[in-house]
Amino acid sequence: MKMELESIVLPGIDPSRPIVISGPCSAETEEQVMQTAKGLAARGIKIFRAGIWKPRTKPGGFEGVGTLGLPWLKRVKEETGMYIATEVATKDHVTEALQAGIDMVWIGARTTVNPFAVQEIADALKGVDIPVLIKNPVNPDLELWIGAIERIYGAGIRRIGVIHRGFSSYDKKIYRNLPLWHIPIELHRRMPDIPIFCDPSHIGGKRELIAPLSQQAMDLSFDGLLIESHCNPDAAWSDACQQITPEVLDYVLNLLVIRDVHQTTENLSELRRQIDNIDEQLLELLSKRMRISREIGVYKKEHNMPILQSPRYNEILEKRSDMGEALELNTDFVKEILQEIHEESVRQQMIIMNQQ
Ligand code: PEP
Ligand code: MN
Repeated sequence: MKMELESIVLPGIDPSRPIVISGPCSAETEEQVMQTAKGLAARGIKIFRAGIWKPRTKPGGFEGVGTLGLPWLKRVKEETGMYIATEVATKDHVTEALQAGIDMVWIGARTTVNPFAVQEIADALKGVDIPVLIKNPVNPDLELWIGAIERIYGAGIRRIGVIHRGFSSYDKKIYRNLPLWHIPIELHRRMPDIPIFCDPSHIGGKRELIAPLSQQAMDLSFDGLLIESHCNPDAAWSDACQQITPEVLDYVLNLLVIRDVHQTTENLSELRRQIDNIDEQLLELLSKRMRISREIGVYKKEHNMPILQSPRYNEILEKRSDMGEALELNTDFVKEILQEIHEESVRQQMIIMNQQ
Protein backbone atom coordinates (compact mmCIF):
# COMPACT_ATOMS: atom_id res chain seq x y z
CA MET A 1 0.00 0.00 0.00
CA LYS A 2 1.46 3.38 -1.04
CA MET A 3 1.12 5.84 1.83
CA GLU A 4 1.16 9.62 1.76
CA LEU A 5 2.16 10.52 5.29
CA GLU A 6 2.54 13.79 7.13
CA SER A 7 5.07 14.65 9.81
CA ILE A 8 4.32 13.55 13.34
CA VAL A 9 6.51 16.39 14.60
CA LEU A 10 4.15 18.79 16.37
CA PRO A 11 4.85 22.55 16.43
CA GLY A 12 7.66 23.51 18.80
CA ILE A 13 9.30 20.08 18.79
CA ASP A 14 12.87 19.82 17.58
CA PRO A 15 12.74 17.29 14.74
CA SER A 16 16.38 16.23 15.19
CA ARG A 17 17.04 12.73 16.48
CA PRO A 18 16.07 11.52 18.97
CA ILE A 19 12.56 12.87 19.42
CA VAL A 20 11.90 11.94 23.04
CA ILE A 21 8.61 10.92 24.62
CA SER A 22 8.82 10.30 28.34
CA GLY A 23 6.73 9.91 31.45
CA PRO A 24 5.58 7.23 33.85
CA CYS A 25 4.40 3.79 32.84
CA SER A 26 1.15 4.65 34.63
CA ALA A 27 -0.47 7.78 35.95
CA GLU A 28 -0.86 6.91 39.65
CA THR A 29 -1.70 10.08 41.53
CA GLU A 30 -1.99 13.72 40.57
CA GLU A 31 1.14 14.51 42.61
CA GLN A 32 3.22 11.76 40.96
CA VAL A 33 2.10 12.89 37.50
CA MET A 34 2.82 16.57 38.18
CA GLN A 35 6.15 15.98 39.89
CA THR A 36 7.39 13.71 37.10
CA ALA A 37 6.11 16.07 34.41
CA LYS A 38 7.79 19.10 35.98
CA GLY A 39 11.07 17.21 36.26
CA LEU A 40 10.89 16.24 32.61
CA ALA A 41 9.81 19.67 31.38
CA ALA A 42 12.72 21.24 33.25
CA ARG A 43 15.03 18.99 31.23
CA GLY A 44 13.59 19.97 27.88
CA ILE A 45 11.29 16.99 27.29
CA LYS A 46 8.39 18.11 25.11
CA ILE A 47 6.11 15.07 24.96
CA PHE A 48 4.75 13.52 28.15
CA ARG A 49 3.50 9.94 28.25
CA ALA A 50 1.41 8.27 30.94
CA GLY A 51 -0.69 5.13 30.84
CA ILE A 52 -4.25 5.78 32.00
CA TRP A 53 -5.69 2.38 31.09
CA LYS A 54 -3.16 -0.39 31.71
CA PRO A 55 -3.43 -3.72 29.96
CA ARG A 56 -1.94 -6.05 32.57
CA THR A 57 -1.06 -9.67 32.09
CA LYS A 58 -3.11 -10.88 35.07
CA PRO A 59 -6.23 -9.46 36.78
CA GLY A 60 -5.93 -8.12 40.26
CA GLY A 61 -2.92 -5.91 39.59
CA PHE A 62 -3.08 -2.18 39.13
CA GLU A 63 -5.03 -1.65 35.91
CA GLY A 64 -4.62 2.08 35.63
CA VAL A 65 -6.47 4.94 37.29
CA GLY A 66 -8.75 5.26 34.26
CA THR A 67 -10.63 8.40 33.26
CA LEU A 68 -9.88 9.94 36.64
CA GLY A 69 -6.30 10.56 35.48
CA LEU A 70 -7.16 12.46 32.31
CA PRO A 71 -7.56 15.85 34.06
CA TRP A 72 -4.06 15.35 35.55
CA LEU A 73 -2.62 15.07 32.04
CA LYS A 74 -4.59 18.15 31.05
CA ARG A 75 -2.96 19.95 33.96
CA VAL A 76 0.48 18.80 32.74
CA LYS A 77 -0.29 20.37 29.40
CA GLU A 78 -1.50 23.63 30.92
CA GLU A 79 1.27 24.02 33.48
CA THR A 80 4.31 22.73 31.58
CA GLY A 81 3.34 23.28 27.93
CA MET A 82 4.27 19.68 27.13
CA TYR A 83 2.23 17.68 24.66
CA ILE A 84 0.42 14.75 26.28
CA ALA A 85 0.20 11.18 25.03
CA THR A 86 -1.51 8.05 26.29
CA GLU A 87 -2.32 4.49 25.21
CA VAL A 88 -5.73 3.69 23.77
CA ALA A 89 -7.09 0.17 23.48
CA THR A 90 -10.81 0.67 22.82
CA LYS A 91 -13.07 3.16 21.05
CA ASP A 92 -14.16 4.56 24.42
CA HIS A 93 -10.54 5.25 25.32
CA VAL A 94 -10.22 7.19 22.06
CA THR A 95 -13.34 9.24 22.74
CA GLU A 96 -12.33 10.05 26.30
CA ALA A 97 -8.72 10.80 25.40
CA LEU A 98 -9.77 13.19 22.66
CA GLN A 99 -12.26 14.91 24.95
CA ALA A 100 -9.47 15.46 27.47
CA GLY A 101 -7.30 17.13 24.82
CA ILE A 102 -4.73 14.33 24.43
CA ASP A 103 -2.34 15.37 21.64
CA MET A 104 -1.02 11.98 20.63
CA VAL A 105 -2.11 8.39 21.22
CA TRP A 106 -0.36 5.06 20.93
CA ILE A 107 -1.66 1.58 20.39
CA GLY A 108 -0.10 -0.93 22.79
CA ALA A 109 1.57 -4.20 21.87
CA ARG A 110 -1.29 -6.29 23.25
CA THR A 111 -3.76 -4.38 21.09
CA THR A 112 -1.77 -4.42 17.84
CA VAL A 113 -2.06 -8.24 17.79
CA ASN A 114 -5.84 -7.97 17.49
CA PRO A 115 -7.15 -6.70 14.14
CA PHE A 116 -10.69 -6.28 15.57
CA ALA A 117 -9.40 -4.00 18.31
CA VAL A 118 -7.18 -2.03 15.92
CA GLN A 119 -10.08 -1.61 13.49
CA GLU A 120 -12.33 -0.39 16.31
CA ILE A 121 -9.72 2.21 17.27
CA ALA A 122 -9.22 3.15 13.62
CA ASP A 123 -12.98 3.72 13.20
CA ALA A 124 -13.07 5.85 16.35
CA LEU A 125 -10.21 7.95 14.98
CA LYS A 126 -11.94 8.75 11.67
CA GLY A 127 -11.84 12.48 10.99
CA VAL A 128 -9.30 13.12 13.76
CA ASP A 129 -5.93 14.67 12.98
CA ILE A 130 -3.48 13.68 15.70
CA PRO A 131 -0.31 11.61 15.55
CA VAL A 132 -0.93 7.92 16.21
CA LEU A 133 1.97 5.67 17.20
CA ILE A 134 1.62 1.93 16.74
CA LYS A 135 3.66 -0.43 18.89
CA ASN A 136 4.74 -3.73 17.42
CA PRO A 137 2.54 -6.70 18.28
CA VAL A 138 3.84 -8.81 21.19
CA ASN A 139 4.64 -11.63 18.76
CA PRO A 140 7.28 -11.17 16.06
CA ASP A 141 4.84 -10.85 13.16
CA LEU A 142 5.78 -8.03 10.82
CA GLU A 143 2.67 -8.46 8.66
CA LEU A 144 0.42 -7.98 11.69
CA TRP A 145 2.29 -4.78 12.55
CA ILE A 146 1.97 -3.52 8.96
CA GLY A 147 -1.70 -4.54 8.95
CA ALA A 148 -2.33 -2.34 12.00
CA ILE A 149 -0.53 0.57 10.32
CA GLU A 150 -2.70 0.11 7.23
CA ARG A 151 -5.90 0.03 9.28
CA ILE A 152 -5.00 3.33 10.97
CA TYR A 153 -3.99 4.83 7.64
CA GLY A 154 -7.26 3.56 6.16
CA ALA A 155 -9.12 5.65 8.75
CA GLY A 156 -7.56 8.79 7.26
CA ILE A 157 -4.80 9.25 9.87
CA ARG A 158 -1.76 10.69 8.11
CA ARG A 159 0.55 11.33 11.04
CA ILE A 160 1.66 7.82 11.84
CA GLY A 161 4.72 6.57 13.70
CA VAL A 162 5.72 3.16 15.03
CA ILE A 163 7.27 2.04 18.30
CA HIS A 164 9.60 -0.92 18.57
CA ARG A 165 9.10 -2.37 22.09
CA GLY A 166 10.54 -5.84 21.54
CA PHE A 167 8.87 -9.22 21.21
CA SER A 168 7.60 -11.55 23.87
CA SER A 169 9.49 -14.77 24.40
CA TYR A 170 9.79 -17.52 26.99
CA ASP A 171 13.45 -16.68 27.42
CA LYS A 172 13.73 -13.59 29.63
CA LYS A 173 17.33 -14.02 30.69
CA ILE A 174 18.52 -10.70 29.35
CA TYR A 175 15.59 -8.86 27.84
CA ARG A 176 12.01 -8.62 28.98
CA ASN A 177 11.12 -8.54 25.28
CA LEU A 178 13.59 -9.62 22.61
CA PRO A 179 14.79 -6.75 20.44
CA LEU A 180 14.91 -8.77 17.15
CA TRP A 181 16.17 -5.63 15.44
CA HIS A 182 15.81 -7.13 11.97
CA ILE A 183 12.03 -6.79 12.25
CA PRO A 184 11.89 -2.98 12.69
CA ILE A 185 14.72 -2.74 10.13
CA GLU A 186 12.60 -4.65 7.61
CA LEU A 187 9.59 -2.48 8.47
CA HIS A 188 11.70 0.59 7.77
CA ARG A 189 12.89 -0.87 4.46
CA ARG A 190 9.29 -1.44 3.41
CA MET A 191 7.86 1.80 4.82
CA PRO A 192 10.77 4.26 4.86
CA ASP A 193 8.56 7.30 5.51
CA ILE A 194 7.22 6.15 8.88
CA PRO A 195 9.24 7.45 11.83
CA ILE A 196 10.41 4.72 14.19
CA PHE A 197 10.65 5.09 17.95
CA CYS A 198 12.42 2.63 20.21
CA ASP A 199 11.03 1.79 23.65
CA PRO A 200 14.12 0.57 25.52
CA SER A 201 12.16 0.45 28.79
CA HIS A 202 9.88 -2.39 27.65
CA ILE A 203 12.57 -4.16 25.60
CA GLY A 204 15.05 -4.25 28.48
CA GLY A 205 12.70 -4.44 31.43
CA LYS A 206 15.48 -3.04 33.60
CA ARG A 207 17.00 0.36 34.10
CA GLU A 208 20.56 -0.52 33.20
CA LEU A 209 19.57 -1.60 29.70
CA ILE A 210 17.96 1.72 28.78
CA ALA A 211 21.21 3.46 27.81
CA PRO A 212 22.73 0.68 25.67
CA LEU A 213 19.43 -0.05 23.92
CA SER A 214 18.86 3.65 23.22
CA GLN A 215 22.35 3.89 21.74
CA GLN A 216 21.70 0.85 19.56
CA ALA A 217 18.46 2.41 18.32
CA MET A 218 20.30 5.61 17.45
CA ASP A 219 23.02 3.66 15.64
CA LEU A 220 20.26 2.02 13.62
CA SER A 221 18.96 5.49 12.67
CA PHE A 222 15.74 5.33 14.69
CA ASP A 223 13.95 8.67 14.88
CA GLY A 224 12.93 8.71 18.49
CA LEU A 225 12.81 7.15 21.94
CA LEU A 226 9.92 6.38 24.28
CA ILE A 227 11.37 6.03 27.76
CA GLU A 228 9.50 5.47 31.00
CA SER A 229 10.31 7.99 33.69
CA HIS A 230 8.97 8.32 37.23
CA CYS A 231 9.71 10.76 40.05
CA ASN A 232 10.21 7.80 42.41
CA PRO A 233 10.81 4.70 40.23
CA ASP A 234 11.18 2.14 43.02
CA ALA A 235 7.75 3.04 44.33
CA ALA A 236 6.05 2.84 40.91
CA TRP A 237 2.76 0.94 40.78
CA SER A 238 3.75 -0.71 37.48
CA ASP A 239 7.06 -1.51 35.77
CA ALA A 240 9.12 -0.27 38.72
CA CYS A 241 12.35 -2.00 37.59
CA GLN A 242 12.50 -0.24 34.27
CA GLN A 243 11.65 3.35 35.15
CA ILE A 244 14.22 6.09 35.71
CA THR A 245 13.99 9.54 37.25
CA PRO A 246 13.93 12.61 34.99
CA GLU A 247 17.52 13.34 36.21
CA VAL A 248 18.75 9.93 35.09
CA LEU A 249 16.87 10.25 31.82
CA ASP A 250 18.68 13.52 31.17
CA TYR A 251 22.00 11.83 31.94
CA VAL A 252 21.24 8.93 29.58
CA LEU A 253 20.17 11.25 26.77
CA ASN A 254 23.27 13.40 27.13
CA LEU A 255 25.52 10.36 26.82
CA LEU A 256 23.99 9.27 23.52
CA VAL A 257 26.23 9.54 20.50
CA ILE A 258 24.10 10.63 17.58
CA ARG A 259 25.76 9.83 14.30
CA ASP A 260 24.79 11.65 11.16
CA VAL A 261 22.40 9.49 9.13
CA HIS A 262 23.51 10.93 5.81
CA GLN A 263 27.23 11.11 6.38
CA THR A 264 29.27 8.90 4.09
CA THR A 265 32.99 9.15 4.50
CA GLU A 266 35.39 8.27 1.69
CA ASN A 267 36.52 5.18 3.57
CA LEU A 268 32.99 3.99 3.90
CA SER A 269 32.33 4.44 0.18
CA GLU A 270 35.41 2.37 -0.55
CA LEU A 271 34.29 -0.40 1.79
CA ARG A 272 30.81 -0.27 0.24
CA ARG A 273 32.33 -0.65 -3.23
CA GLN A 274 34.08 -3.78 -1.99
CA ILE A 275 30.81 -5.13 -0.60
CA ASP A 276 29.06 -4.43 -3.94
CA ASN A 277 31.81 -6.34 -5.70
CA ILE A 278 31.59 -9.30 -3.39
CA ASP A 279 27.80 -9.42 -3.73
CA GLU A 280 28.21 -9.46 -7.50
CA GLN A 281 30.64 -12.37 -7.22
CA LEU A 282 28.32 -14.21 -4.83
CA LEU A 283 25.42 -13.89 -7.27
CA GLU A 284 27.55 -15.00 -10.23
CA LEU A 285 28.73 -18.02 -8.27
CA LEU A 286 25.18 -18.88 -7.24
CA SER A 287 24.05 -18.66 -10.84
CA LYS A 288 26.93 -20.91 -11.89
CA ARG A 289 26.05 -23.36 -9.11
CA MET A 290 22.42 -23.52 -10.25
CA ARG A 291 23.52 -24.11 -13.85
CA ILE A 292 25.60 -27.11 -12.75
CA SER A 293 22.77 -28.29 -10.55
CA ARG A 294 20.45 -28.26 -13.57
CA GLU A 295 23.02 -30.29 -15.52
CA ILE A 296 23.03 -32.82 -12.70
CA GLY A 297 19.23 -32.80 -12.93
CA VAL A 298 19.43 -33.72 -16.63
CA TYR A 299 21.85 -36.54 -15.80
CA LYS A 300 19.65 -37.87 -13.00
CA LYS A 301 16.63 -37.80 -15.30
CA GLU A 302 18.45 -39.66 -18.10
CA HIS A 303 19.63 -42.29 -15.64
CA ASN A 304 16.37 -42.58 -13.76
CA MET A 305 17.89 -41.41 -10.49
CA PRO A 306 15.91 -39.62 -7.72
CA ILE A 307 16.60 -35.93 -7.08
CA LEU A 308 17.09 -36.23 -3.36
CA GLN A 309 20.12 -38.17 -2.25
CA SER A 310 20.36 -37.73 1.49
CA PRO A 311 23.90 -39.08 2.05
CA ARG A 312 25.24 -36.53 -0.41
CA TYR A 313 23.25 -33.72 1.21
CA ASN A 314 24.48 -34.67 4.69
CA GLU A 315 28.03 -34.76 3.40
CA ILE A 316 27.65 -31.27 1.93
CA LEU A 317 26.20 -29.93 5.18
CA GLU A 318 28.91 -31.45 7.31
CA LYS A 319 31.89 -30.52 5.17
CA ARG A 320 30.72 -26.99 4.58
CA SER A 321 29.95 -26.45 8.25
CA ASP A 322 33.52 -27.43 9.11
CA MET A 323 34.79 -25.20 6.35
CA GLY A 324 32.65 -22.35 7.63
CA GLU A 325 33.89 -22.81 11.16
CA ALA A 326 37.50 -22.74 9.97
CA LEU A 327 36.66 -19.46 8.24
CA GLU A 328 35.18 -18.09 11.48
CA LEU A 329 31.64 -18.02 10.13
CA ASN A 330 28.69 -18.58 12.44
CA THR A 331 27.66 -22.26 12.16
CA ASP A 332 23.90 -21.61 12.15
CA PHE A 333 24.33 -18.95 9.51
CA VAL A 334 26.31 -21.31 7.24
CA LYS A 335 23.74 -24.05 7.78
CA GLU A 336 20.83 -21.78 6.91
CA ILE A 337 22.47 -20.55 3.73
CA LEU A 338 23.35 -24.07 2.63
CA GLN A 339 19.82 -25.26 3.29
CA GLU A 340 18.40 -22.41 1.20
CA ILE A 341 20.82 -23.14 -1.63
CA HIS A 342 20.06 -26.83 -1.49
CA GLU A 343 16.32 -26.21 -1.54
CA GLU A 344 16.68 -24.03 -4.63
CA SER A 345 18.82 -26.71 -6.32
CA VAL A 346 16.10 -29.28 -5.64
CA ARG A 347 13.49 -26.88 -7.07
CA GLN A 348 15.56 -26.40 -10.21
CA GLN A 349 16.02 -30.15 -10.66
CA MET A 350 12.29 -30.76 -10.15
CA ILE A 351 11.59 -28.42 -13.07
CA ILE A 352 13.96 -30.48 -15.23
CA MET A 353 12.36 -33.77 -14.11
CA ASN A 354 8.90 -32.47 -14.96
CA GLN A 355 9.88 -31.26 -18.43
CA GLN A 356 8.52 -33.43 -21.25
C1 PEP B 1 3.40 0.91 28.03
O1 PEP B 1 3.96 1.61 27.17
O2 PEP B 1 3.25 1.25 29.21
C2 PEP B 1 2.96 -0.44 27.66
C3 PEP B 1 1.93 -1.04 28.26
O3 PEP B 1 3.72 -0.98 26.73
P1 PEP B 1 3.54 -2.25 25.77
O4 PEP B 1 2.26 -2.08 25.02
O5 PEP B 1 4.74 -2.09 24.91
O6 PEP B 1 3.62 -3.48 26.61
MN1 MN C 1 5.18 0.13 31.19
